[in-house]
Amino acid sequence: MEIEIEISFAESLNSCSKKIRANRFKECKKCDGKGGDELIKCGQCGGKGAVNQQVRTPFGVISQSVHCPSCKGAGQTIKNPCGQCAGDGRQEESETVEIKIISIILFKRINIISFIL
Ligand SMILES: [Zn+2]
Ligand SMILES: [Zn+2]
Repeated sequence: MEIEIEISFAESLNSCSKKIRANRFKECKKCDGKGGDELIKCGQCGGKGAVNQQVRTPFGVISQSVHCPSCKGAGQTIKNPCGQCAGDGRQEESETVEIKIISIILFKRINIISFIL
């Protein structure tokens, strides 16, 4: 995660901390990150995660194994997808993070300033 912050020169002279808002993904509280109530075997592929598809080629019709479109190859689907995260298991949350501006940054800044001068 990369965050750009602006600090003033006065702030850079003293170690300081800044509060910023950042978006990060967190485990969904409603379903504990599971995405739903119960995992059930996918009905379309029978839990194999792959289905046979008939593909027409110039040489005739061949049967090809493809990722199951219903469970995306997982072999399992969620019986009752969580309404909060739509079965994803995670949610984007905006939170306030406090960043301590440490001396390494301070030295970098002073180097840059002296270079410009
Ligand atoms: Zn499936
Ligand atoms: Zn959820």
